[in-house]
Amino acid sequence: MDASEKTPALDFVRAIVADDTKTGRYDGRVHTRFPPEPNGYLHIGHAKAFGLNFSIAEEFGGLCNLRFDDTNPTAEETEYVEAIMKDIRWLGFDWGDRLFYASDYFQQLYDHAVDLIRRGSAYVCDLTPEETREYRGTLTEPGRNSPYRDRSIEENLGLFERMRAGEFPDGARTLRAKIDMASPNINLRDPVIYRIIHAPHHRTGDAWCIYPMYDWAHGLSDSIEGITHSICSIEFEDHRPLYDWFLDQLEVYHPQQIEFARLYLSRTVLSKRKLLEIVNGKHVKGWDDPRMPTLAGLRRRGYTPESIREFLRRVGVAKTDSEIDVALLEHCVREDLNRRAPRVMGVLRPLRVVIEDYPEDRVEEFDAINNPEDPGAGTRRIAFSREIYIERDDFREDPPKKFFRLAPGREVRLKHAYLITCERVVKDERTGEIVELRCRYDPESRGGEAPDGRRVKGTLHWVSARHAIDAEVRLIDHQLVEGEEGQAPPADFKDLLNPNSLTTLTGCKVEQSLENAAPGSRYQFLRRGYFCVDSLDSAPGAPVFNRTVSLRDTWAKIEKSQRA
Ligand code: ATP
Ligand code: MG
Repeated sequence: MDASEKTPALDFVRAIVADDTKTGRYDGRVHTRFPPEPNGYLHIGHAKAFGLNFSIAEEFGGLCNLRFDDTNPTAEETEYVEAIMKDIRWLGFDWGDRLFYASDYFQQLYDHAVDLIRRGSAYVCDLTPEETREYRGTLTEPGRNSPYRDRSIEENLGLFERMRAGEFPDGARTLRAKIDMASPNINLRDPVIYRIIHAPHHRTGDAWCIYPMYDWAHGLSDSIEGITHSICSIEFEDHRPLYDWFLDQLEVYHPQQIEFARLYLSRTVLSKRKLLEIVNGKHVKGWDDPRMPTLAGLRRRGYTPESIREFLRRVGVAKTDSEIDVALLEHCVREDLNRRAPRVMGVLRPLRVVIEDYPEDRVEEFDAINNPEDPGAGTRRIAFSREIYIERDDFREDPPKKFFRLAPGREVRLKHAYLITCERVVKDERTGEIVELRCRYDPESRGGEAPDGRRVKGTLHWVSARHAIDAEVRLIDHQLVEGEEGQAPPADFKDLLNPNSLTTLTGCKVEQSLENAAPGSRYQFLRRGYFCVDSLDSAPGAPVFNRTVSLRDTWAKIEKSQRA
């Protein structure tokens, strides 16, 4: 057992929540929320965020809302809203009847903005977007006050109303909070809280032509919903003083924001903006492409919700960012599928083998164990006949040392079936390519054991040619190539995209039991890894398999070397 498997101490977020429930802060209530922006699909980093929010609510007898932060009408789509809900449910979380949209609060947010103007803490500014940026200053230089900063409250109220009424074009004016243009925190330099966008919104239609900025909507939405702990990722740490300022100015209910480290995964893109670029640039077939680290992609690839939750449990929650080795994620799904995936035989790169002394018209059936890890999984019958397929790389004409598979004159075991010996290699006369092996079998070795107890080292998987089903298999590799040690990443992240992230194999041969395998079902192909029936491209009798993960557990190796 390694350290990560012992009962963990409470992480720092849970420790804060536990303390608050003990001291009776918020009357002992725990109410969290997950606030995605519906402008892309959720990835496994988001799963860390919503898993934390929903789990904490569950563990402390509280509630967790799902709230779409839909304040930007130009980037958001209903497709994303639906995909996000599906993915959260898939991972096993439930918001009950607490589905909300920031757009539900547009009127309240507007009223709060009017209130802020009345308090003398907001003004309508006529600077162009470029000028606004220029006046803002930099990290090292303070900003300058807008010439419109000292408008009277009446003038501001009038102009803001006219902004809402649609009298001005996009970008002509903004509403800004009046805080401090010299603040070392740029977020506090009179941030824009409303902008004019004459665009319909996916929920409110044409009702509005001014839209709240994320920072204005976000903290206030938490306040409106009575959230106790606004748990968010670390990049919002610098925004907390702004949210606090808004809530204090307006004298409204004040949740506590707690920031935690984002999830970073090696060889994986976890930025929605970049993932959108990958989708739009057609580097993948869509958000649910099995190469994508989105929950939709991972699901299609064969990941189970349990394996992702276990991964997140082992990653834990900390305050400082660190990169997690993607091998840990792969380890978790391997562990889970090892317990539950039935074993089958599938040959990815087939080589025909004719067993010359096996009667031509005979078919035998052998019992095969479905899952040695799960006695309840039972057995199935697999057919054996004179012509079979084995894996091309299980044969070598000139075997190197330690190659214990098939070679001229060598004997190997066909899993569950017989011992065979290679007699002859048949080649294409023109190309020299091996097209077929001629073998003989030991009729006394039924089930794969030598009658005289002689040692046969190699065991191969195989399928009966006559019974096999044709299949397509997609091998999936990491999304990014490994960056050079010590070298700065390229200016364009797309230069790191792995050109071999997908290998499509057609003409693969799989055992007959897979003929009508249900879309989404998962198997271990003996010696080849875990595979999942593609839910979009498979047809009855013509399955397509995505390889979830190979059998080689690099994480187990890393753990072992760390222990040593
Ligand atoms: P990105 O910055 O990658 O485009 P995002 O933060 O814009 O993602 P949102 O829809 O705003 O996407 O995300 C909802 C919540 O998910 C945010 O509150 C954010 O804290 C959290 N989140 C996003 N990415 C990660 C990550 N890699 N690890 C942990 N939490 C994340
Ligand atoms: Mg965001």
